[in-house]
Amino acid sequence: MIKVETPDYPIYFGVENYAVLGAYLNEKQYSKLLILTDSTCNELCLPHFLAHLPTTIPFEIVEIEPGEPAKNLATCEGVWEAMLDLGLDRHSAVITVGGGVVSDLGGFVASVYMRGIDCFVVPTTLLAMVDASVGGKTGIDLQGAKNCIGSFTMPKMVIIDAVYLETLDPRELKSGYAEMLKHGLIYDLSYFNHLKDIAQVDFGDIETLICHSVVIKNQIVQDDPKEAGVRKILNFGHTVGHAIESYYLSNPIKERMLHGEAIAIGMIIEAYISTVILGLNSVVYQEIKESIQYIYGKEIFSEADVEEILTWLKFDKKNRAGEIRMVLLSNIGAAFYDQEVSKDLILKGFEDYLK
Ligand code: NAD
Repeated sequence: MIKVETPDYPIYFGVENYAVLGAYLNEKQYSKLLILTDSTCNELCLPHFLAHLPTTIPFEIVEIEPGEPAKNLATCEGVWEAMLDLGLDRHSAVITVGGGVVSDLGGFVASVYMRGIDCFVVPTTLLAMVDASVGGKTGIDLQGAKNCIGSFTMPKMVIIDAVYLETLDPRELKSGYAEMLKHGLIYDLSYFNHLKDIAQVDFGDIETLICHSVVIKNQIVQDDPKEAGVRKILNFGHTVGHAIESYYLSNPIKERMLHGEAIAIGMIIEAYISTVILGLNSVVYQEIKESIQYIYGKEIFSEADVEEILTWLKFDKKNRAGEIRMVLLSNIGAAFYDQEVSKDLILKGFEDYLK
């Protein structure tokens, strides 16, 4: 049995661990369980989950719309009302079965319902397995601004079961892969080197890779659980990436952009900025740019797009007194947070991205 321990909760890998979850739920004698999922996961993931969960506790299933546009206050309100109507009390618990949207929103919903009830996380996307389910960040978007409302609330247990990836769209798999590349870029050169040539990666053994990412994220979170310092390095690619994601979310004529796709672009642009501010070797930058663009292709941004994207930067939670601060690299595996960056330099990053 593979298990990663955090100071607050265990992360178990593999189908056999639903028995551990079931035993824990039964022992705690929760009054009721709310299984929160989205409509896609309700159809594709819930049958497997329910077939393997041995629990005698009564449960209710609530589903939300799939995807990022549902990660908002209106959806939370609907879930809270359902919880009240279904009789969930202070001794109830939430289990999220879904991707990062379900775990971020479900974790937040649980963290404030009746001043906080327990939450268990069963991630069903690669992104949620390697990143969103670890570290206790919960939250929702506000008027398109990413993760503007939320809390640090640790789950009670996470169960990672790679079986769910069998039904996941390849584009969603690649979206999750971006966060794994990020883990390599900020923390582990040999991991990045292993992942960058995607054709050589053995996806038959994806659980080992997921576990490696979880260990890296967990290590960083343990050093700084509330993101006062070093945890910020996990935001590499996210300053620009979140601005791009918000712009696409708020613009109905734009095609959908997935979280990891936006982060992939953000990592290239922030690596470019790293060459200017922290002296990241330009050959290393080209290698980062080429390997990421090989996997994700190149998105075309017009001048008007870039101008609009830059306006979204003001919502970044790392900003201080209106100054944009981001995570930059001096080398692969060497990340530095709180680096002040001008809008002009970000613009140059977009220009270089488009070259
Ligand atoms: P998501 O939850 O929207 O899932 C992506 C899509 O895949 C959805 O349409 C969903 O219905 C579908 N899906 C989920 N599991 C499936 C399965 N097994 N088979 C088929 N389809 C399935 O998005 P995501 O990429 O998982 O997560 C993105 C979110 O995670 C973003 O909101 C991001 O901000 C957040 N995030 C949070 C953290 C954190 O630390 N809390 C870290 C990284 C990202």
